[in-house]
Amino acid sequence: MKPFAYQQPTDAGGAVAAVAASGNASFLAGGTNLVDLMKLGVATPDLLVDVTRLSELGAVDPTEGGGLRIGAGVRNSDLAADRRLGTGFPLVARALLSGASGQIRNMATVGGNLLQRTRCPYFQDVTKPCNKRLPGSSCPARGGDHRNHAILGASEACIATHPSDLAVALVAADAVVHIAEPAGPRAIPLADLYRLPGDTPDRETDLGRGALITAIELPPLAFARHSTYRKVRDRASFAFAVASVAAAIDVHRGAVRDVRLALGAVAPRPWRALVAEEALRGRPATPEAFRAAIAAELDAAEPLPGNAFKLPLVSNLVTRTLSSLAGVDR
Ligand code: SF4
Repeated sequence: MKPFAYQQPTDAGGAVAAVAASGNASFLAGGTNLVDLMKLGVATPDLLVDVTRLSELGAVDPTEGGGLRIGAGVRNSDLAADRRLGTGFPLVARALLSGASGQIRNMATVGGNLLQRTRCPYFQDVTKPCNKRLPGSSCPARGGDHRNHAILGASEACIATHPSDLAVALVAADAVVHIAEPAGPRAIPLADLYRLPGDTPDRETDLGRGALITAIELPPLAFARHSTYRKVRDRASFAFAVASVAAAIDVHRGAVRDVRLALGAVAPRPWRALVAEEALRGRPATPEAFRAAIAAELDAAEPLPGNAFKLPLVSNLVTRTLSSLAGVDR
């Protein structure tokens, strides 16, 4: 591993200033992804700025109307065990519990989870070209192993998927991300944090140098109590998703009054299924309507030979998940 310097500031402002002042620094929280990438030679920071001692990042607080504000430094296992989350936003709690292993969830933080890097095998292998790691070098996944890659939102330059389960559930729940930057704080919808790859797959987020995620805000959403997260993976424990869905639905007199739907492991970012949501509002809550809605969403899909199986997989996953939530599974 390349040698690096280490700092441990005592407040968020100091952490932001330290990273902003360096040409090649990274924030260090749980380290469950960053340290692996450093060992592989994929990440080579000159300076690590440890944010694990920043007390302002470590709390979960209720907000007016039934929402939650979650500090970016809260550990995944602590958040998953929070009763307020489990009752008010079960899709988020289930997404957390489906990610990684118990040991990793004990270390990993909310902010780090959202910023973890793709598990594309070519990205993680520094002997291979990869447009995301080495811009302009090519994308070997297109003609190679792309079973777990994107069917939506990809580009000629990159077809990698975002690996986070948590981010999928948070995007479905309209979460807002709070960011501390050298110019001051700001807050944006989490869905807008992630960029699609286009010609610049190395630029994955809207964050500039020194930008630190400080908190995630879950706005009140009464029917989020009626929600879930389902993940299809190759083995029952410790595997990234082949496809996943986060869903919340409000059914009144047999019709869909409102719905939130997001897909995971099918796109370079957590994929909010807005086309399917719009197709469902006001429609009868039936398996047929759910299948037609996700088909409309998947009209935009551009699968490759090795991942075309995700189309029927996602269709079945979404239909069964919404049917189960709506109590109309047969
Ligand atoms: Fe690199 Fe993206 Fe291609 Fe994977 S899919 S090899 S991350 S450019």
